[in-house]
Amino acid sequence: MGRLQKILIPFLGLVLAFWFYSARDTFKPEMLRGKRVIVTGASTGIGEQIAYHLARMGSHILVTARTEAKLQNVVQRCLELGAASARFVSGTMEDTAFAQHVVREAQTSLGGLDMLILNHVGASYFGFFDGDVEHVRKLLEINFLSYVAMTTSALPMLKESEGSIVVVSSMAGKVGFPFTVPYSATKFALDGFFSSLRQEFAIQSINVSITLCILGFIDTERAVRAAAEVLRERPAPRDECALEILKGAALRRRELYYRYSSTRLPLLLRDCAAELLDYLVRSRYR
Ligand code: NAP
Repeated sequence: MGRLQKILIPFLGLVLAFWFYSARDTFKPEMLRGKRVIVTGASTGIGEQIAYHLARMGSHILVTARTEAKLQNVVQRCLELGAASARFVSGTMEDTAFAQHVVREAQTSLGGLDMLILNHVGASYFGFFDGDVEHVRKLLEINFLSYVAMTTSALPMLKESEGSIVVVSSMAGKVGFPFTVPYSATKFALDGFFSSLRQEFAIQSINVSITLCILGFIDTERAVRAAAEVLRERPAPRDECALEILKGAALRRRELYYRYSSTRLPLLLRDCAAELLDYLVRSRYR
């Protein structure tokens, strides 16, 4: 009993402190009014929803992806919803030069940048690792290296605006997931790069926030097509997910978990019961 109290009381103290400090800041849509924002992977899915929320909040938006026709529709809808301005650049993030070009476009057309939202994701397969090393290399270029390239190019503008970098990642970037080995590897790489960069920003007093978003299963077309049959859980709504990402970004959170119950809570087991967590992950599949 004595030992239990020794553990329980500090633990409850920590929980209360966390609740108190996390409840202090409140999000207001005005925080994003007039902000100049790049959203990658915004032709569909979560990125598209992020663009629409930003539009309602009155931001200047630059969206990018490969499919020009879809981007044109997204820009049109953003303008209808009240965006301060909306434009697109189309191209593939397989090409580092394109990633840099998008940032230069923001500099030219928006005159600076307040928020860089890195969200795009290349196509991969759902199944046992097939040993295709070239596929892993290509996916690293799209899901990881282009994020690094865009961040590097955007940093001078973000330093000037004391802005924010938002990195959309996954539970599969925090704990090993079966059937998505190459994808999972690229998401772990993002955590390593951006969490280390955050440390260097702190050392150098660089006031640019980095928000790493750890998402569970979300109801985008691609994810539902790939996983709805095999995952036991119901996907969370993408528009709500997009709004939570923007709240976390505006409040300059270090990490954002959505949904909390299917991401943050299981991850609490990672250090004390890793095998149990692995088992829980495997048991999500039919
Ligand atoms: P999605 O619906 O498949 O959208 C992916 C976006 O990336 C599209 O706009 C796509 O547009 C773009 N894209 C794909 N390949 C590209 C390339 N080579 N170059 C440039 N753009 C490219 O994805 P989502 O489900 O919304 O996921 C968004 C983010 O959330 C991703 O980072 C993903 O890992 C993360 N996430 C999603 C889930 C989920 O369950 N949905 C769970 C955890 C994490 P084009 O095809 O037009 O290029």
